[in-house]
Amino acid sequence: MSRERTPRVAVIGGGASGMMAALAAAEQEADVLLLERQNRLGRKLAATGNGRCNLTNRNAAAAHYHGESSSFCAPVLEKMGVEPTLQRFLDMGLLTVEEADGRIYPLTDHANSVVDVLRFSLDAAGVEVRCGSVVERLEKADKGFSLHLGGETFRADRVIVACGGIAGGKLGGVRDGYRLLESCGHHCTKLHPALVQLKTEGTLTRGLKGVRTQALVHVLRDGHVSAEERGEVQFTEYGLSGPAIFSVSREAVQKGESTIALDLFPELSTDELHGLLQHRVETRPKLCMEDLFTGMLQNRLGRVLVSAAGISGSLPLGEAGDQLWKLAKRAKRFAFPVAGDLGFDQAQVTSGGIRTSEFDPHTMESRVCPGLYACGEVLDIDGDCGGYNLQWAWSSGWIAGMNAGKGTVKC
Ligand SMILES: Cc1cc2nc3c(=O)[nH]c(=O)nc-3n(C[C@H](O)[C@H](O)[C@H](O)COP(=O)(O)OP(=O)(O)OC[C@H]3O[C@@H](n4cnc5c(N)ncnc54)[C@H](O)[C@@H]3O)c2cc1C
Repeated sequence: MSRERTPRVAVIGGGASGMMAALAAAEQEADVLLLERQNRLGRKLAATGNGRCNLTNRNAAAAHYHGESSSFCAPVLEKMGVEPTLQRFLDMGLLTVEEADGRIYPLTDHANSVVDVLRFSLDAAGVEVRCGSVVERLEKADKGFSLHLGGETFRADRVIVACGGIAGGKLGGVRDGYRLLESCGHHCTKLHPALVQLKTEGTLTRGLKGVRTQALVHVLRDGHVSAEERGEVQFTEYGLSGPAIFSVSREAVQKGESTIALDLFPELSTDELHGLLQHRVETRPKLCMEDLFTGMLQNRLGRVLVSAAGISGSLPLGEAGDQLWKLAKRAKRFAFPVAGDLGFDQAQVTSGGIRTSEFDPHTMESRVCPGLYACGEVLDIDGDCGGYNLQWAWSSGWIAGMNAGKGTVKC
């Protein structure tokens, strides 16, 4: 005679989506085992948002996500959107604050607070957590699954793969998730680094290393603007970084040759900027060209702009002549040919992943292998810069956990 019991759910990966999935499965009264390969939970999560964790964005909606079929995330975000996510975190004891562009951070300004409340909740929910546990192989068994780790094997009725992507290698980004899901019949799309710093040609940015500025960033391809973003840009030794650059990095690299053009004065037309420069020349004719932009741009940026235009910094402003037009135009279109990106290790997210058409967005269950679920970055969904990737991890993790934890198992 068969008897019924609650399902044993194994979650592979103790990052953002895996912790959320484990909590949701435990809420369904499943017996939950959370396996994490690193020696602590949420290692990448603790480094997000420069250590502040931009945990979601008020504007999270399918339009902010990418993938072969980005509409896959619409029902997921509908079921578990920003409000219920914030309510869950509030229930866990996390206070949050909203900043510009709908970005939401913990009030403490510390990503570790997010990891901590998740850890405490897992403990309170009775989830068995095993860190330092690398799942090497996943096998569909007669009833459920076998998970092989080094010398140990675990059995589970249902498995949630929440292994993340390969971005942020130093924080634990690995290929395991793709491999484990492929071994169960799934397919992976081409992987690219996304939200990543750009390498630019030439040495211009080297002299500007450390300078930050607000700019309107254009991606130019074949003379046309193929993407634009307004925000902070940082100059680095090898090229360009900062939130506005992250946002256009996919467009700048994945579609072939491009140039990044920075408009350093997006509020002014070229005529208006020229007028300002002309006024400086007329009122301060004894200053030199290297001071032309003083008070308008960071000094170092102003000087590099002048020297990059082939103009001597020691030339008195009174002798500037028609160089002002040249400089006004350059400041409105400070161009850097793109030489590539800094790769997966430096990227914040992986674009591409396991095909979403092989999963049901209402449950996150595999259509190929019943009882198997996936969530987070391992799937072919990646979000814009600004908290969207973590919201995807929370939403998809929650739905996977709710469904994997549901119901009874006959044995
Ligand atoms: C530097 C940086 C900053 C970021 N900042 C932000 C931000 O501010 N806001 C935002 O929205 N997004 C941010 N992101 C992106 C965000 O962190 C990820 O999209 C998100 O963490 C993905 O969640 P996940 O659960 O899918 O994967 P992860 O959080 O990467 O978790 C996967 C876990 O699975 C474990 N694992 C892998 N293989 C195995 C295995 N075989 N066995 C057991 N465990 C395994 C890994 O060790 C890891 O802990 C940032 C990323 C980086 C790298």
